[in-house]
Amino acid sequence: TVTAEAMNTAQTASLSPALKQATPVVVDHAQGSWIRGTDGNDYLDFTTGIGVTSTGHCHPRVVAAAQEQCTKIIHAQYTTVMHQPLLELTEKLGGVLPLGLDSVFYANSGSEAVEAAIRLARMATARPNIIVFQGGFHGRTVAAASLTTAGTRFSAGFSPLMSGVHMSPFPYAYRYGWGTDAAVDFALRELDYLLQSRVAPNDTAAFLIEPVLGDGGYLPTPPRFLEGLRERADRHGILFILDEVQAGFGRTGKFWGHQHASDLTPDILITAKGLASGFPISAIAASTELMSKAWPGSQGGTYGGNAVAAAAAVATIDVIRDENLVENARVRGEQLLTGLQEIAGRFDAIGDVRGLGLMTGIEFVKTDAADVPVPDAAAAAAVQQATTRHGLLTLTCGPAGNVVRLIPALVVTEDEIALGLERFAATLSDVFA
Ligand code: PMP
Repeated sequence: TVTAEAMNTAQTASLSPALKQATPVVVDHAQGSWIRGTDGNDYLDFTTGIGVTSTGHCHPRVVAAAQEQCTKIIHAQYTTVMHQPLLELTEKLGGVLPLGLDSVFYANSGSEAVEAAIRLARMATARPNIIVFQGGFHGRTVAAASLTTAGTRFSAGFSPLMSGVHMSPFPYAYRYGWGTDAAVDFALRELDYLLQSRVAPNDTAAFLIEPVLGDGGYLPTPPRFLEGLRERADRHGILFILDEVQAGFGRTGKFWGHQHASDLTPDILITAKGLASGFPISAIAASTELMSKAWPGSQGGTYGGNAVAAAAAVATIDVIRDENLVENARVRGEQLLTGLQEIAGRFDAIGDVRGLGLMTGIEFVKTDAADVPVPDAAAAAAVQQATTRHGLLTLTCGPAGNVVRLIPALVVTEDEIALGLERFAATLSDVFA
């Protein structure tokens, strides 16, 4: 028996310094777009747990679904006994997934789903190589970190990483100082060159890309680039994997981020984050034919497709549909972008403002001797820190850390966007006074 004396009462523990805190806020409770801190302050939350609380904090229908499921079964373990929420979720997901992607595998986090997608792609093609695009973020586990090029902080000190990963340029028009078309032409040419010079198409299992670069700088991937990848994938028998972890589930003003490109379907789609409004669950979807190339037992996990998370995901899909949240993301995203563009005109430190739906980035730069804009991480950090003092929660991103990103909940209202813009402008006036 464990006696009270056997417990160490002389020690308390603290959180690992490896966690880098973006704000000093400790949450007491939250609702919709708002977080109440234990300091008694109300914060307008334009971080949503890094794009996770899609239906807002504690949406009553999501809360009710999770509460009800808790009274039935919490953890059923989907390879031991199947449970109803996962069956219902799978049926519902079928209604929002691109046509043809009719088979789903569940995990817990984005990273795990990325790994499942890579495993499937390698098993299905018996080819080793994966081509990723500069600035992509795919997670922190060893395979996911190997695929991530959104900053060395995600992989430094972690080698040896997974082999067989090759990086090709992303059409980052602003950074190159080019128009979008020129940047797309360049990036497609470089990809073709990579396939000729180093990574043979017959050795390549997949292309992996986000529809909007997330942690890599909030850069919408130009539709023509996605279409160019699809065309090359078809030509070479390479699988096209879209990481919709951050850009999916309505965030960009379409249900999936890639739907801004005409008529395009990936071979494997990866989703997580917004899927269950805050409960940990992720998924990959592919055709049944492709999915069956991973043999029974090759994919799995203790917690994957948790019953409470699945019930919350079902409620999330219902809320997104019933409250017309994809359309709200589009309209409120336009309001946010227009407001930011107007604000940007008043501050030289802002080099670029961009976004798709409610995924908006503000890039901070300074000008070097040759009059070329260079990333200004210090300015972005100062702004991000200062927004908290103005009652607005924001995050930074980008390999250089010089982009401030705004990620409101899909339920955000016109007044909340207006207030967020007001607080952001006041912050900039303070920082650049
Ligand atoms: N892919 C993308 C596009 C992401 O944005 C993230 C998380 N920021 C991940 C994968 C990894 O997800 P997780 O943190 O849940 O492992």
